[in-house]
Amino acid sequence: MSTQEVLLGKSLPQLTQWITQQGQPSYRGKQLYQWLYEKGANSWQDMTVFPQKWRESQDNNIIGRSQINYCSIAPDQTRKYLLKLADGLIIEAVGIPTSKRLTVCVSSQVGCIMGCDFCATGKGGFTRNLKAHEIIDQILTVQKEFGERVSNVVFMGMGEPLLNLPEVIKAVKTINEDIGIGQRSLTISTVGLPQKILELAHHQLQITFAVSLHASNQEVREKLIPSANHYPLSQLLKECREYVKITGRRVTFEYILLAGVNDLPHHAKELAQHLRGFQTHVNLIPYNPISEADYQRPSKERVNDFLNQLKQENIAVSVRYSRGLEADAACGQLRIRS
Ligand code: SAH
Ligand code: SF4
Repeated sequence: MSTQEVLLGKSLPQLTQWITQQGQPSYRGKQLYQWLYEKGANSWQDMTVFPQKWRESQDNNIIGRSQINYCSIAPDQTRKYLLKLADGLIIEAVGIPTSKRLTVCVSSQVGCIMGCDFCATGKGGFTRNLKAHEIIDQILTVQKEFGERVSNVVFMGMGEPLLNLPEVIKAVKTINEDIGIGQRSLTISTVGLPQKILELAHHQLQITFAVSLHASNQEVREKLIPSANHYPLSQLLKECREYVKITGRRVTFEYILLAGVNDLPHHAKELAQHLRGFQTHVNLIPYNPISEADYQRPSKERVNDFLNQLKQENIAVSVRYSRGLEADAACGQLRIRS
């Protein structure tokens, strides 16, 4: 079966065209659209609105849904799903509930080629890009499992979204137009790749754009992120400024705090110097331990000192303590499986 035939990711006119080609009346296109995106149907059996005989003649694979292979629930109610793709590969998606929101952390690739030293995904290597429907499926799965509408989507699961831009953009359009989640409630996070930030900017999306900076100078960044070797911090920051110019949207910088590595007062000072006059928000992420690396999370006191130092420099900044730590579902803890 070619992936072109997968229904998930198709718009209402495309679904209507498909169903009429199957000999069904065109009003059935709207029904199919609702069953796919509103009701999150997994199989033709679910879609009781269609004639039974016709449903029985259809192949479930064409719908484009993955299967839940495993789910673990952390004490804070964050749930990590292992999802099995049509070719048997496993990816991870995380549902993060709060009183007002349900956020899904989606994967964009199976594994990641970037090899960041503090990230479990990066330690496991890269297998393949996800197709748009495999990204969309993660949201529909979490929505159905929690029994409530997903309000936010963050591309912070496995993979580097800018290395799979066409499928990520396609998924963003469907999430926005067909699942009905506003672009401003979507976040794309990238470690940063030359030219790719500008390529994304030209799509003029209203999404929140986050860049994983993690270091206040080139030397530290290269130690943490191998690709930084070919992408000087100065060029990354220049392209981020261009992003702001092109889109009119601010850039969020993510900064993992690693004890003794990048969390010292002179790092905060250096960071503030880089970001002066920049329309930005800094998200400090205390490191989540992974077995493959021996970094330490700084003390709460150190985190607060770093935070306050940036505040004093008039930088908009907050701390993000990751959810789901106990279920290995927190940032950086998602692993490739076989
Ligand atoms: N590849 C993209 C998006 C996925 S990673 C990126 O790197 O931005 C999502 C976020 O989790 C990134 O900010 C990443 O740096 C962070 N992260 C990775 N490993 C982590 C760890 N061990 N502890 C805390 N955050 C981590
Ligand atoms: Fe890939 Fe992001 Fe992990 Fe780096 S932090 S290895 S870019 S997923």
